[in-house]
Amino acid sequence: MAKKEFKSESKRLLDLMINSIYTNKDIFLRELISNASDALDKVYYESLTNKDIKVKRKDLAIQIVYDKEKRLLSIIDNGCGMTKEELEENLGTIAKSGSLSFKENMTKDEKIDIIGQFGVGFYSAFMVSDKIQVLSKSVLAEDAYLWESEGADGYTIKKAEKEDHGTEITLHIKEDTDDYEYSKYLEEYELKSLVTKYSDYIRFPIKMEVTHHELKDEEKHEYEDHKEVEVLNSMVPIWKKKKSDVSDEEYDNFYMDKFSDYDKPLRVISSSVEGITSYKSLLFIPSHAPYDYYTQEYEKGLALYSNGVLIMEKCADLLPDYFSFIKGVVDSEDLSLNISRELLQESQSLKLIAKNIEGKIRKELENMLKEERETYISFFKTFGVQLKYGVYNNFGQDKDKLKDLVMFYSSRHEKLITLQEYVQEMKEGQEAIYYASGASVDKIQALPQVEQVRDKEYDILYLTDYVDEFCITAIQEYEGKKFVNVSDGNLDLESEEEKEATKKVNEDNEELLKAMCDEIKEVNEVRFSNKLKSHPVCLTTKGDVSIEMQKVFDAMPNDMGIKAQTVLEINEKHPIAEKLKKLYKKDKEEFLTYTKILYSEARIIAGLPIDNPTEISKLICDVISK
Ligand code: ADP
Repeated sequence: MAKKEFKSESKRLLDLMINSIYTNKDIFLRELISNASDALDKVYYESLTNKDIKVKRKDLAIQIVYDKEKRLLSIIDNGCGMTKEELEENLGTIAKSGSLSFKENMTKDEKIDIIGQFGVGFYSAFMVSDKIQVLSKSVLAEDAYLWESEGADGYTIKKAEKEDHGTEITLHIKEDTDDYEYSKYLEEYELKSLVTKYSDYIRFPIKMEVTHHELKDEEKHEYEDHKEVEVLNSMVPIWKKKKSDVSDEEYDNFYMDKFSDYDKPLRVISSSVEGITSYKSLLFIPSHAPYDYYTQEYEKGLALYSNGVLIMEKCADLLPDYFSFIKGVVDSEDLSLNISRELLQESQSLKLIAKNIEGKIRKELENMLKEERETYISFFKTFGVQLKYGVYNNFGQDKDKLKDLVMFYSSRHEKLITLQEYVQEMKEGQEAIYYASGASVDKIQALPQVEQVRDKEYDILYLTDYVDEFCITAIQEYEGKKFVNVSDGNLDLESEEEKEATKKVNEDNEELLKAMCDEIKEVNEVRFSNKLKSHPVCLTTKGDVSIEMQKVFDAMPNDMGIKAQTVLEINEKHPIAEKLKKLYKKDKEEFLTYTKILYSEARIIAGLPIDNPTEISKLICDVISK
């Protein structure tokens, strides 16, 4: 029979894994047990709605069988099993997303990172075995199949015999090497302790034959060994245990196993609520974003159980979008098992639980911000974009819940601060919350418009994320203070005399400014200003759309035609102002050349592209070669 190849990326991932760069080989057992447990959940859940499937909850179990001589270790379940197609589909591809990018010469850490990102899953078994057999019969099919593989070069599938539905995974455990003692996975003691360490909470019995030493003759001190099948795990779901009875390590292990993360969670939030609707929940804030978090493929949701029985792996209705990064489990006896998914969505109990959970997560984050700022900042750097997105999403309906959780970079403190902190530290006489946006802190710092506000010793929020300005626009004002973009044409920081003086200059030069405005079609206005200290020009905006927002709109696939209304401001105290006035009288052509060059300068400073770079560079050359 022809050997089938793994899909190419799977093959490379497998290569990496087999070459044992993943440090903790022990985890293969918990991965296989966890898959078996899922399969048992599935068959039980199916049986509730499909009368043809007859299974009793009490008969569902996982078995571990080992044979030291033959070096075989089997994990057996009577779960849903797999059809031939499912064997192909599930065990023939490792990284289903296909978005893996392997680089040549990756460092060890990068490799571990890649494997970690995908959750090690079934393939981790190749870390300890040189051959794996999967004998499976689907509960929905007549035939059983045997899947076999010796590693990266491929696998075979053939028809086989198996009486009951379920899956039997047999590992041919590797020979010991100088570096690693694989034989330990064939030892009763080791297997027992791995199960209690990693899989204790599994809600189905994990059975294994265990040796008992029994005193045969008290006088002679003679013992006799006899074997008995025992259940190794306590079967109490971790979320049903009292918080004080669960160690941090147990929570971490549960999280890493259940949600396929290679890193511990940043925070564990457990709660037990009694009331109109009672439930227990165990939630986790991951310490880093899942690899697919910012893609379309990412599915939010919490695992939903009804008294220990899984109803749904990812119940999306339990989490608002802005907390979509939260992982976890909710278990409520008040949710009926037989309820259809459509009815479940409508259930008042579910809505109530969702509302409570939202509040709980928010409280937790607020406390973290108050009490463990560094941890919060690390969280915010990972998931802050999602919170900011939550502020402006749905027309800002959730902004009040989230506005105290968002942070922005402060020019004064040179680090992230909250809006409340900004407002508390506002200077006397300061009326507004100032912000400036750009691609990076350095670039914003260099903006001519920033200078005037900094001179007043006002703090400025530097917005560098594309969502920032939308977020701030949605909040509108904080504690009665409006947000003002330093690039807003009506910044209004001058004294009355200064304003008068500027107004006069503009009036006196009305014609000149109009000529400039006519020359540059895209700008809505050209004016002299005294807000610029050392810089000759800058580009500001009128109205609600800023230049940075326009950049975001421009990058969107469908051009909505939203444009910022721009103003070219010329520093009235800069020698260029006099020069323009002179040229306007003497040499109109040269005047227009200068206009074009100055406008291009303003665009460059604003981080905008120049549509006619060849023409502009020629004009500059003409001027400087004179
Ligand atoms: P994951 O469990 O993260 O999806 P795995 O590589 O561990 O990834 O498993 C791939 C798939 O193979 C599972 O999603 C499941 O559909 C199937 N599978 C694995 N083990 C079993 C089993 N014991 N019984 C039924 N299906 C299984």
